[in-house]
Amino acid sequence: MPAAVKKASARRNPIRELVFGDLWEFDPAPETADPKLKKRYDLFINGSFVSPRSGKYFSTINPANETKIADIALADASDVDAACQAALKAFTGVWGKMPGKERGKYLYRIARLLQDHAREFAIAETMDGGKPIKESRDFDIPMAAAHFFYHAGWADKLEFLSPGRQLVPRGVVGQVIPWNFPLLMLAWKIAPALAAGNCVVLKPAETTSITALKFGEICQEAGLPNGVVNIVSGAGETGSAVINHPLTSKVAFTGSTEVGKMIMRSLAGTEKKMTMELGGKAANIVFGDAPLDQAVEGIVNGIFFNQGHVCCAGSRLLVQESIAEEVLAKLKRRIAVLRVGDPMDKNTDLGAINSREQLTKITELVQSGVKEGAEMHQSACRLPTKGFFFKPTIFSGVSMSHRIAREEIFGPVLSILTFRTPEEAVEKANNTPYGLSAGVWTDKGSRILKMSTLLKAGVVWANTYNKFDPTSPFGGFKESGFGREGGKQGLLDYLKVA
Ligand code: NAD
Ligand code: MN
Repeated sequence: MPAAVKKASARRNPIRELVFGDLWEFDPAPETADPKLKKRYDLFINGSFVSPRSGKYFSTINPANETKIADIALADASDVDAACQAALKAFTGVWGKMPGKERGKYLYRIARLLQDHAREFAIAETMDGGKPIKESRDFDIPMAAAHFFYHAGWADKLEFLSPGRQLVPRGVVGQVIPWNFPLLMLAWKIAPALAAGNCVVLKPAETTSITALKFGEICQEAGLPNGVVNIVSGAGETGSAVINHPLTSKVAFTGSTEVGKMIMRSLAGTEKKMTMELGGKAANIVFGDAPLDQAVEGIVNGIFFNQGHVCCAGSRLLVQESIAEEVLAKLKRRIAVLRVGDPMDKNTDLGAINSREQLTKITELVQSGVKEGAEMHQSACRLPTKGFFFKPTIFSGVSMSHRIAREEIFGPVLSILTFRTPEEAVEKANNTPYGLSAGVWTDKGSRILKMSTLLKAGVVWANTYNKFDPTSPFGGFKESGFGREGGKQGLLDYLKVA
């Protein structure tokens, strides 16, 4: 038994223990299966794992304990070039010509292999990125497989996407993804690209490359023709080489608005098709007639899921003034019982912040909230002494001008604002440069319909939050980006009219 746990049990008081969330102590329930990791990950190019031409590697760490997990190959422009050449050869030689029915079989095979290796992938994802094992196990990995299943079904039905027009693939697609849902973002990108007949060069985020490189092993196991999928790891420079390579005819980027703008500037004037999934600052709007306990669960899920590292996180809570006090009281009680700590523990609600840099950014923004006069409420939980962790945090008394109401924090921090009328809620919700998602909680169906029309957000959830499905297109308005991922719309972005 670890010392900390022993100490906690010794302190247990049978009467006070009944007060849920006060002295309630859980025994550790660690996930212990073998994630089958390698000490060193090479680049996946043309169906094989190859060392980078520069011979350079960088370390990836486990953000929950700051220990090194593996060395990851650093791809430079010459490696990216090799990957793009391999993708082009695969596209013109095999994949672009293959009947959809045959392509679909590979996608089904990949989907089933992801299910077969689900446990291994879930553990690897949690180790490398810090998210709770229950989320990688129950959300990230199954959803990644679901995206391959869904798109496998489309591969031989593309002519029904846009009747009367002949659609053809774009060729070599360059894709760059962030660290918050590493394998899932890969699936969102690779599954539609392959179903449409394209070949891809994908760059994972530098803190979370492992599951993308393990995906290379899945491609090998599926017998996918060489060069159809290429994975080049590295940081921004590698990403830039992928995006700017003359052979990539479509670029799909998910990441920050800042980098998205840089990419758009560098590609302006080229013929490349772009899709951008960028940041967000979603409003989650709760009306006085909403089912409050359900809404509180939705608010908690909306902001604390994946430590708040979610582009569509409900980070601005707009509460109708009449119920604001009650909602705040309920939220404070709720965050007191959230379990923060070892991501590999099956009972953990909030795992580790993905990186020291992200932790610094969150800390700085939270300090600005206090300085600008908002009232901070934090869970009294104890944080592990090693690793990057942040307490679930709520700010009340937030006004629209505060930085915590305007900037994306990308952490477990909720800013609460109030409103009196639906018009005021809409105005406040839309008063942001972003427009990725929003939530509406009310008992009235007509109000849901009206609000979802008025809210300038790509996704509007009603009486729920953070629900995803491969059939449902996802994407933003304004500075949250353009283009869609998922559903028919997402697939169409990977095709062009012949
Ligand atoms: P980031 O923009 O710093 O990095 C994203 C990816 O881009 C990484 O792989 C990075 O290596 C790469 N990159 C960095 N500089 C580059 C350059 N100059 N050219 C090409 N590639 C470059 O973002 P991040 O901090 O890793 O991710 C968090 C951000 O991503 C948040 O703002 C979040 O809202 C956004 N995000 C959006 C969605 C969405 O679907 N809209 C989903 C997840 C994350
Ligand atoms: Mn890592």
